[in-house]
Amino acid sequence: MSCLLRLVYASKAAFENHDDSDGIDLEVAQILVQSRRNNPKQQIQGVLYYGDGHFFQVLEGPREKVQQLYRRITEDPRHTSATILSSAEIDQPLFNSWSMKYIPADKTVRQFLQYNGHLRFDPFTFDLAMIDRLVHFLNVRPGSEQSSDTFPHQPAWKRLWNHLTTHSSQRKAAH
Ligand code: FAD
Repeated sequence: MSCLLRLVYASKAAFENHDDSDGIDLEVAQILVQSRRNNPKQQIQGVLYYGDGHFFQVLEGPREKVQQLYRRITEDPRHTSATILSSAEIDQPLFNSWSMKYIPADKTVRQFLQYNGHLRFDPFTFDLAMIDRLVHFLNVRPGSEQSSDTFPHQPAWKRLWNHLTTHSSQRKAAH
């Protein structure tokens, strides 16, 4: 059996930051749709967080497939400065029920950051212990499947993207 890798990286969004702590950015929703469509075919799972203009993503799966996906992601014009924060062989994936979990930038994330001494989400300033705490926080934190209930005041296009992204992860779960 091919060995499993957990790769954690951060990058800077190349689009205007619409992150207002209460919804999902259209660009991010598109990325989620692509991830949830592609990742199950590669046995890849993980989590994506976007806040304060930064992406933070955990990719777990067969080593070659994760490395191949990461190379593709680094060429994506929607972000820059992709930097691997940690990369380790694992026995068990943490995010095995998610082709790509999404955690919105909400109050609980702010509280987590403040508790750990960070006023903004800037993963480039996080040390290894903080990265590890963040990965585990994102693992236990409920994901975006409840997002259309959580954000009923969102504009229609946001609800549509929430619906699309929720839907593709449920299809994966059905297989
Ligand atoms: P399609 O979705 O069919 O797209 C065709 C081409 O158009 C691709 O080259 C794509 O890069 C480009 N494209 C599509 N939409 C846009 C857009 N709005 N702006 C600019 N170019 C666009 N992909 C995954 O499969 N799994 C992941 O976990 C994943 N995580 C990502 C995390 C981040 C932070 C970013 C920025 C991108 C991520 N992507 C992920 C997207 C990845 O970079 C590729 O765009 C995607 O894998 C291509 O999917 P596809 O081959 O099905 O192409």
